[in-house]
Amino acid sequence: MYKAFLIKYAEIGIKGKNRYLFENALRDQIKNSLKNLGNYMVTKEQGRIYIECPEDYDYEETVEALQRVFGIAQICPVMIIDTIEWEPLTKAVGDYVEARYEDRNFTFKMEAKRGDKNYPMTSPEICIEMGAYLLKRFPEMKVDVHNPSVRIMVEVRNKSYVYSEVIPGPGGMPVGTNGKAMLLLSGGIDSPVAGYMISKRGVTIDAVYFHAPPYTSERAKQKVVDLARLISRYTGPIKLHIVNFTDIQLYIYDKCPHDELTIIMRRYMMRIAEQIAEESGCLGLITGESIGQVASQTLHSLAATNEVCNLPVYRPLIAFDKQDIVDIAEKINTYETSILPFEDCCTIFVAKHPVTKPSLKVIHHSEKSLEEKIDEMVKTALDSREIVLVD
Ligand code: ATP
Ligand code: MG
Repeated sequence: MYKAFLIKYAEIGIKGKNRYLFENALRDQIKNSLKNLGNYMVTKEQGRIYIECPEDYDYEETVEALQRVFGIAQICPVMIIDTIEWEPLTKAVGDYVEARYEDRNFTFKMEAKRGDKNYPMTSPEICIEMGAYLLKRFPEMKVDVHNPSVRIMVEVRNKSYVYSEVIPGPGGMPVGTNGKAMLLLSGGIDSPVAGYMISKRGVTIDAVYFHAPPYTSERAKQKVVDLARLISRYTGPIKLHIVNFTDIQLYIYDKCPHDELTIIMRRYMMRIAEQIAEESGCLGLITGESIGQVASQTLHSLAATNEVCNLPVYRPLIAFDKQDIVDIAEKINTYETSILPFEDCCTIFVAKHPVTKPSLKVIHHSEKSLEEKIDEMVKTALDSREIVLVD
């Protein structure tokens, strides 16, 4: 029945004279999300986006893809009627209502728009006449202009369009409208969710993963690539930097007190991530940290980690409970992959009793013992990184 979709957006509608940038980004994200599903025509028109579907398109698959495009507030499946002539048009709208609603015991309101102001009827006239036709044909339907359960929208242009269904979109802003940031992506539950959330506000995502072969396996690395692929369904293509962290980790392990390992390691991860971020034009870092979740995420520890960063660090999960994070992970389909039992690089080097209130003075002192080789090691890690484009 449906051969097209009308896409409505909320927040991006209010962006003043930059509005066209948001609309173009949304159109491009929609095109990107549908590119593997067929040959759709996506066009921008007066405050919304219109998608015409190929003959053989799959309805469910298309709606699912659109529900992952940030910036969409509502998805309205549209039936196209190949005429603007009044009689056949009213009949076709009636046929639509009959086919779409088996039980027609509901209240409705007609809404109409004309593309061509020369059309012989005004919009209010279209509503009144069309409403009268429907009431006659379906006596069980009732009009309620204030609080209808169904709004039946008819638009008359060079063809006619009717729609009445509204499927919620994901909300947010189109990716690409708010700069780029670097996600520290581990194999856990939290960081993919953090990336998803920041990207929902229109931010393009690059990612960095630190691995420590042979302490972490090829499978652990594959898991991170898989997670990047899962979130790229929302964020669009992700450039994933895979950094070999083994030598740095072993060096820290060798030189520093073991209860400070995690904090010092995290400080080096941030330093390296920041260098890659700056090279890539990213305006911030993103982590999956949440206050108190583990020893390295107490306020003291977060302060110690944060101290080495110049770029802002975005931590969208900072005040989330684990269960709330899990709920989102399930919704975006990363949870199953995140809980696969492959070790990540931190678990191997964690101390039995890590510090929960690291003192910066003590940490600075410990890091002094790395001075001899650490800069060179960081440089090697940066130079030898592997880059995977995930989409
Ligand atoms: P997650 O569930 O995201 O793995 P976590 O609860 O295990 O987080 P930590 O291991 O303390 O917490 O990591 C905190 C944050 O640091 C992660 O959310 C992630 O952003 C980043 N991070 C940790 N390990 C790595 C890694 N190996 N590579 C890249 N980023 C990492
Ligand atoms: Mg982790």
